[in-house]
Amino acid sequence: MQGLMMGTQLLISTLIEHAGRHAGETEIVSRRVEGDIHRTNWREVQQRSKQLANALLAMGVKPGDRVATIAWNGYRHLELYYAVSGIGAILHTINPRLHPDQVAWIANHAEDRHVFFDATFLPIAQAVAARCPTVKSWVQMTARDRMPAAQSATPTALEPLCYEELLAAAAPQLVWPSFDENTASSLCYTSGTTGNPKGVLYSHRSSVLHAFGAAMPDAMGVSASDCVLPVVPMFHVNAWGLPYTMALVGCKVVFPGAALDGKSLYELFENEKVTFSAGVPTVWLGLINYMKQNGYTFSSFRKTIIGGSACPPAMIRTLNDDFGVEVIHAWGMSEMSPLGTTCKLANRHLTLSKDLQLRILEKQGHVIYGVDMKIVDPDGKDLPWDGVAFGDLLVRGPWVVRAYFKSEGGDPLVIDADGISWFPTGDVGTIDPDGYLQITDRSKDVIKSGGEWIGSIDLENIAMAHPEVAMAAVIAIPHPKWDERPLLVVVRKADSTVSREDLLAHYEGKIAKWWTPDDVVFVEAIPLGATGKMLKAKLRDTFRGHKLPTA
Ligand code: AMP
Repeated sequence: MQGLMMGTQLLISTLIEHAGRHAGETEIVSRRVEGDIHRTNWREVQQRSKQLANALLAMGVKPGDRVATIAWNGYRHLELYYAVSGIGAILHTINPRLHPDQVAWIANHAEDRHVFFDATFLPIAQAVAARCPTVKSWVQMTARDRMPAAQSATPTALEPLCYEELLAAAAPQLVWPSFDENTASSLCYTSGTTGNPKGVLYSHRSSVLHAFGAAMPDAMGVSASDCVLPVVPMFHVNAWGLPYTMALVGCKVVFPGAALDGKSLYELFENEKVTFSAGVPTVWLGLINYMKQNGYTFSSFRKTIIGGSACPPAMIRTLNDDFGVEVIHAWGMSEMSPLGTTCKLANRHLTLSKDLQLRILEKQGHVIYGVDMKIVDPDGKDLPWDGVAFGDLLVRGPWVVRAYFKSEGGDPLVIDADGISWFPTGDVGTIDPDGYLQITDRSKDVIKSGGEWIGSIDLENIAMAHPEVAMAAVIAIPHPKWDERPLLVVVRKADSTVSREDLLAHYEGKIAKWWTPDDVVFVEAIPLGATGKMLKAKLRDTFRGHKLPTA
């Protein structure tokens, strides 16, 4: 027998309708790439999203079409989040920190139809436009008076459309279409640690359920009384779902745009009375340093979620003790929308000493309802939750990936002895008797710098292309500012005298500049495993104490 409740579909458009109708006057503040501070509210974003949706329909956007963005956190990007998904098309957020070759590869793989970009990223659009045959139009997210001068004298140059002109020409009325909540809503590429990047295709249902989960008190715990500043970019895993969660709770929003330095962030935190934020550890380093140098304190900021890579315990303590900010350490991944665990104390922890409480809060935390997890040994057998045994971390749930876009990489799931499907995260960790996860390592060999991945295989391939290199490995070396930086380990060819400088120069123009290894060491041989694979864990041990010139 079926229940007799309304079958309202969990659509992303319902979130903006809710925020527009019930938190309409609540402000949305953006530091624009134009340089000024812009103010709007949920009602205007709701209205402009509808107008933008009409503009997209007029451009010929059909359900399932991919519409890409290369943009900072700002109100126009938020409008695209709702307009594109709202009409059943797929918002494909592209990470502008990738090398243009990768941007072109991803845009082609996604078969993007239209690309919306911030003025900052015009050079990327110009660099890749000729290589993206599926893209019918490039739209610069600004007003006419800020558009680049017409370039018709050079017929190959990009002639972008103007965002505000498109909007102005479109009708404001629209009733969001209703469709199956399992329809794809947005697409985000992982950074291709083995082979090419893979697309994670989120659905309306997964995004709305994730927004509910993220808002819960033991997760982000955001509410209508908050003023939220998402530092985490909207071009990576949908800014941890915040564009949806913020609409769901109807809070005040502050978008930092391109200015992510300590001074600019501090100004926004104070001027707008921010209460809650989210970002990778590196961002907080800049802000903390700036505040310490100037003797500043926060007047309203009380809580932040930190994840994307392990949050150093010292950072949790500094934010807590020196600045009165509660840190929620979180773990997740693109394949999980991204939230998996968040670290908050349970009732039974409240009588523990402050020191013991902090030791718990350093962990990656407890799953939120919606996600289940377990650790297994190499044979797939469950490991105990004793806080000691560590194993491969498996997850499942309605906002966890079941396959990659275009079936790239085959079926990623594993089936356990009970016939239940799990997604292997590639991370390794322990789970304690209270169910708190601690990530001890990751099985992948990628390098995480400033919260972004650097693919070591790409860097090795470039080094291996040098005529005097016999073998090359790139490993992560801990770095005080960027968490990790790449170190290139090279075996020279016989009689070669190729230098560190030669090899670093060899990277110029082939990759994004910040991917370039920080240093090079020369070795007689690189250790190999039984199947001929490089033993990077061994290399990491050997060079653990290596002093990088930039550290
Ligand atoms: P991404 O898909 O780019 O968001 O990267 C996800 C990966 O980042 C995870 O699989 C982990 O290896 C790592 N990660 C994310 N959050 C944490 C954390 N709090 N501690 C340690 N590693 C983390």
